[in-house]
Amino acid sequence: MTIRALCVYCGSSSQVRPSHLEAARELGTLAARAAVDIVYGGGRVGMMGAVAAGAQAAGGRVVGIIPQHLEDLEAGNRSATEYLVVDSMHARKQLMAERSDAFCALPGGLGTLDEAFEIITWRQLKLHDKPIIFVNLEGFWDPLLRLVEHQTAEGYLRGGSAGLFHVVERVDQVLEAAANAPRPSLPDKIERM
Ligand code: AMP
Repeated sequence: MTIRALCVYCGSSSQVRPSHLEAARELGTLAARAAVDIVYGGGRVGMMGAVAAGAQAAGGRVVGIIPQHLEDLEAGNRSATEYLVVDSMHARKQLMAERSDAFCALPGGLGTLDEAFEIITWRQLKLHDKPIIFVNLEGFWDPLLRLVEHQTAEGYLRGGSAGLFHVVERVDQVLEAAANAPRPSLPDKIERM
């Protein structure tokens, strides 16, 4: 499938491994080179800021979507190609989902988990079938992937995670994984969430 806009969920903390920040920046650069827009949470901090900086430095389009009350805390990226200020966290997630053809999760904290799992559960509930990719940088997501295996073994996840999300190890595999995913066939009901 053709990817025009990639949603990136990732951490807002800057106190993380330099290799993760470098990878985030590289993903932005790769997206820009492939003429894929980055849709993200609109901040200039941490992994979020690194993705956006990588894309913007390489001439890419960046769509930042931020709730008004977080503009200071997350250093709103007013130089984004599109800087969209919304009223709530829910509006942010919904607009990020609407504006994107595929989703990926780089390492992050609780907010990243919330965002990634919301889009996964929307897929599980057949509200959309756009591809979702965990970028397991240096095994960062291994504990989470073990938990999902455990949930599957215990009967809480019928069919396992294979139909819900993909896992790649490096940022240079993200766009290919998204492009190789089956073309979405469900009517997209995200805007009705
Ligand atoms: P974190 O992974 O905790 O650093 O958070 C990453 C991003 O997720 C930050 O921009 C947070 O503002 C955002 N975030 C946290 N919780 C939510 C939520 N419930 N809905 C939307 N965005 C969220």
